[in-house]
Amino acid sequence: MKNILRLSTGGLILAGASFFVMGDSAIGYSTIGGSLNLGQRDFRVYDNFSGSPANNNTTNHSNWPGYTGAELAIWKGGAEWNSRAHGDGSGDGAQSVVGSGGANMTFFWEGMASGIGGSNDNIVSSISGSSGGVLAYCETPINDGWRIRFYGDAWSWQDGPGTVNSGMDIQGVACHELGHSLGLGHSTAGGSPTMNAYISGTGSGQRSIASDDIAGLKSIYSARDSNMPWIDNVAVSGNTVTISGGGFSASTNRVWIMNDLLDGGNSGGAHETVADVPSSNGTSLTFQLPASGWESGCIAVKRTTGGTYGNLSESHPFDASGGGGGGGNDTANLTANTYTPNIGTGITFSWTNAPASAAYNLVYSFTDRSPFFNTYNGLVGSGTNTAWGTGSLYRIVPNRAAGRTVFIECQYIAGGVVYDTNTIRLDVP
Ligand SMILES: [Zn+2]
Repeated sequence: MKNILRLSTGGLILAGASFFVMGDSAIGYSTIGGSLNLGQRDFRVYDNFSGSPANNNTTNHSNWPGYTGAELAIWKGGAEWNSRAHGDGSGDGAQSVVGSGGANMTFFWEGMASGIGGSNDNIVSSISGSSGGVLAYCETPINDGWRIRFYGDAWSWQDGPGTVNSGMDIQGVACHELGHSLGLGHSTAGGSPTMNAYISGTGSGQRSIASDDIAGLKSIYSARDSNMPWIDNVAVSGNTVTISGGGFSASTNRVWIMNDLLDGGNSGGAHETVADVPSSNGTSLTFQLPASGWESGCIAVKRTTGGTYGNLSESHPFDASGGGGGGGNDTANLTANTYTPNIGTGITFSWTNAPASAAYNLVYSFTDRSPFFNTYNGLVGSGTNTAWGTGSLYRIVPNRAAGRTVFIECQYIAGGVVYDTNTIRLDVP
């Protein structure tokens, strides 16, 4: 049985303030017990938020490649807790730097999931209904994983990306709930820390963690080690990637890159790992991109095979759309209503965040050619996106697919530029 921690809106905030007479400098954080296991630093979103304000930000930002809408808001909410700034820290209208945790802890963003997952799958999603003023909750204990749900029907959820002035801010509430997933309880400190049990207004103010939140995080994971690896720059030329930074080991570095593949496992896949990358003077790594399985989004360096929290760098933006794999910007998001379709039954493919009114080709391959299918075995179908950059296609699964694993991607051309989606994997019984 999982416990849950709830975040509620205003109303009681004044009563709380008058009851706890504390100065702004008072330590108010609390912990719920435990810390995330080393294998639980990943997080994902199943974007089932309804209502266009939750997904009407369609502007890409170079510091956050490949994601917009609710996914981007939640990615930034997690990255705020990371050990160091995400890239140059830019891309949020409500704070100057994203990535303020300063502890031996960094989330690794894994993009989309194909469902809400179980209570230990580290997926953020929406749940229908409402619960008396509660905005969202996190299922604990967290050491072996967690799950976060937003009450989707009760509030007008907003994806920003600037400060949200009406409705409720997905990013601020995500930052709070992800604080629970790290092991933090509610705070009684003054100054409205992110982990306050109540928020007033839209929640935009909770996007930026406060000194009390940081103190709580450090009490669980310790302050950032001075020799924790870090990334200053990532350069991509063709299939060659060079990471500049510091704290790298001589020969046993492992590079984590976001996984491209969405299957029926809810997990969204584990990150792609490039193992045993040697460094030059501990400050530079050069490696070749794997042939498949990764996507643009984020990247991190872990300096050894085993280890402690302090062995993983902060996450850094990674955009190989101009180089490796012949494309693969993965800016559009492809899902299916099932990932294990029976022959003779229908399957619906859906995509969002694609170029408006552009022609699409939904293609399939019997081998994984992610992040971009330069070649493929055939077309599932073609057509034109809606004016909102969405689309869907219904098909009956043909007999010849029986027993096969099929990889599918959607491709578009708009303004002379090729765009594509993540890859989905179908396992046909
Ligand atoms: Zn809470």
